Amino acid sequence: MTHFGPTKLDAAVIPKIAAQWGTPIYLHDQEYIENSCEQLLNMPNAFGLHVRYAMKANSDRTVLRVVTNKGLDLDCSSLDEAARAHVAGIPYSRMMLTTQEVPSGTERAELEEMIKAGLRYNVCSLLQFQLIADFAGANKVDLSIRVHPGAAGGGESATRDTGSEYSCFGVHLNDVPRVKAMADEKGLRFTQVHVHIGSGGDPEKWRANIDRELGFVRDYFPDAVTVSFGGGLKVARMPGEKQADIASLGAYAKHRIEEFKAATGRELEMEIEPGTFVVANSGHIVTRIIDKKFTNEMNFLIVDGGMELLTRPLLYGSEHPIYIVRQDGTLLSSEYDQTPTAGLKSFGIVGRCCESGDSVRLDKDGNIVPVEIIEPEIGDYVVIGGTGAYSESMSPENYNSHRKPGAVMKTNSGELVLIRKKQVREQLVQNELDVQL
Ligand SMILES: *Cc1c(COP(=O)(O)O)cnc(C)c1O
Repeated sequence: MTHFGPTKLDAAVIPKIAAQWGTPIYLHDQEYIENSCEQLLNMPNAFGLHVRYAMKANSDRTVLRVVTNKGLDLDCSSLDEAARAHVAGIPYSRMMLTTQEVPSGTERAELEEMIKAGLRYNVCSLLQFQLIADFAGANKVDLSIRVHPGAAGGGESATRDTGSEYSCFGVHLNDVPRVKAMADEKGLRFTQVHVHIGSGGDPEKWRANIDRELGFVRDYFPDAVTVSFGGGLKVARMPGEKQADIASLGAYAKHRIEEFKAATGRELEMEIEPGTFVVANSGHIVTRIIDKKFTNEMNFLIVDGGMELLTRPLLYGSEHPIYIVRQDGTLLSSEYDQTPTAGLKSFGIVGRCCESGDSVRLDKDGNIVPVEIIEPEIGDYVVIGGTGAYSESMSPENYNSHRKPGAVMKTNSGELVLIRKKQVREQLVQNELDVQL
């Protein structure tokens, strides 16, 4: 199965993609995305399972269509995400909004329209609740509530732990009784309780969260019919990493939800909202080696795309597998199939941005970590794996005025289809106003 690491790289397509659309470019794999959707939908459950794709992982319309056609709904992290998913043809009734925003003015009016069209509003703060309560009451809208569990969550790094005391997401447990009392007073119902503890995927923490959350549901939310355990299901990008065991996590949740039923008589539907798990390993970034440098300290391969395409190494020290592909489409080296062991040279792989941290392989202190490979030639390709999530959707695009690259989808039939064009130069300046000061 492809699910225990990035999609096997089809090296032969790399020069074809480069010849047709240029580099750098993002590459996605429809079959992989569909397979991960199926795995999630088959997760064991007690009284039903609902899967939402956390679209901030990759919000491209073609990706959204592939995912929603498989039957997943969406979790949107901003009003604009919901609006752009709607542009992709997805109805608001298939979306939930989980946001730090407190929309006002025209955005507030837009939010009300979306909610009337069926968008589920996930209340994430006391203020959000106060501001939506009258509207929800007048329109008989049931709400979801995101609870801050007040316990260290599941972040691979502190920056992705949304459960700890240093994170501000959700209605803090301290505020829950107050929100609950206000909701009762207004006759409002929380039909869903939601906790997302972060993106890390420690299964122990995921299980502990299930237990804790079912406790909140029992203690505070008698109207809840759905319990969302959030996202944060881990994928294995690098050799040796361990993927979340969907079947075993599902079996645990099922067991706990059945116990909950035995204790309370209530049958809860389970919801999950992974982003990473759906798309991370479906993606590759194709870059071309444009220069080489040899110094006493380090050898460098300079490629035509780096931190402006994939910021995770710089942001979190995240590791992504690296493949070197020759211009004739043969694989020169790969972190998956350990090819030659003799005649290797050590290279730091760097991008074009004026930052010493613009490299795909950095340690936690931001120092470049060289890779051991057969020396490639200028014009060969460096392909970076595990880049389907949080790369094109979170990159500091346009830094150094590099243009956001295009994206290609390898379809189920093996065809390569351009799904997004590279930005044109005019787009870099199109919103600037010609003022003379
Ligand atoms: C980011 C996010 C997710 C998805 O997290 P992954 O680690 O990508 O699975 C799910 N829910 C919420 C509320 C999020 O913010």
